[in-house]
Amino acid sequence: MIACLDLEGVLVPEIWINFAEKTGIEELRLTTRDIPDYDQLMKGRLKILDNHKLKLSDIQKVIRTISPLDGALEFLNWLKSEFQVVILSDTFYQFAGPLMEQLHYPNLFCHELIVDGNDRIVDYQLRIKDGKTKAVAAFKNLNFRVIAAGDSYNDTGMLKEADGGILFCPPDNVVREFPQFPVTRNYTELKAAFIASRKTLLERKKSIAGK
Ligand SMILES: [Mg+2]
Repeated sequence: MIACLDLEGVLVPEIWINFAEKTGIEELRLTTRDIPDYDQLMKGRLKILDNHKLKLSDIQKVIRTISPLDGALEFLNWLKSEFQVVILSDTFYQFAGPLMEQLHYPNLFCHELIVDGNDRIVDYQLRIKDGKTKAVAAFKNLNFRVIAAGDSYNDTGMLKEADGGILFCPPDNVVREFPQFPVTRNYTELKAAFIASRKTLLERKKSIAGK
């Protein structure tokens, strides 16, 4: 069984919100929680960075000051002891590095920024469109069962595709729009939801085998 986790909002704080706070650029506070269309969101962010002449190293400097959420490492260590864990994120490898070190380098599937010779972020390269959902579908094709957890719009595709989907500290609009997923508000509840989901899947498997 594979556990798929979102990164920002589940294990680490929202990188762009932290960056907005440090730089005082209000418009950079928008996330996938506010704008469901990821391309629209990212194109907007890159334009704002350009307008303020901000380079990749400016953002990385801020990211180095960010720590995982309280209890995240302990939760992740527990999850790794129970499941194969893959983090499916819409962030970029250039951003995630310092945070991955603090989380002891879990498996991370995410995207790539395209940076020119002057350290300017010129574009971004999605590994594949809707990568989270496709990763879960691919694991299922390899005959794994998948339980996934995430906090926002860009996770709902993978939660639907997974055999079990869990919301973690989601905003109210996501809770309202996706009432089919259990809602957890801390790592104790998230742990319990993973255990409950695995139990359901194992029982389902047993009842199918018994027929
Ligand atoms: Mg998130």
